[in-house]
Amino acid sequence: MTRSIIRAAEWTLGAETADGAPDGIYSAECITCGAQAQPTDNVRLPVEVWALQHTGLNPTHRQFKAMAETFWRVTPAEGNPYRELDARGA
Ligand SMILES: [Zn+2]
Repeated sequence: MTRSIIRAAEWTLGAETADGAPDGIYSAECITCGAQAQPTDNVRLPVEVWALQHTGLNPTHRQFKAMAETFWRVTPAEGNPYRELDARGA
């Protein structure tokens, strides 16, 4: 996942990096019947394989809605008073 940082006023938006936070959660849904792949953390290959197998078993089901969820965190930027408070563990 590409990390993007957007600065707005005194806050910074970035990817969530907390322990256990996935880079992304991937899933897919068949447009024809609504069947859904088991969501996976960080890797999308199992979801791609599921889509191929679903079409293999249902040859007319060929369109999928692919979903990728990512998580963000807003942190105080340089000069923001909350930055010092966070550093103190407040
Ligand atoms: Zn289907």
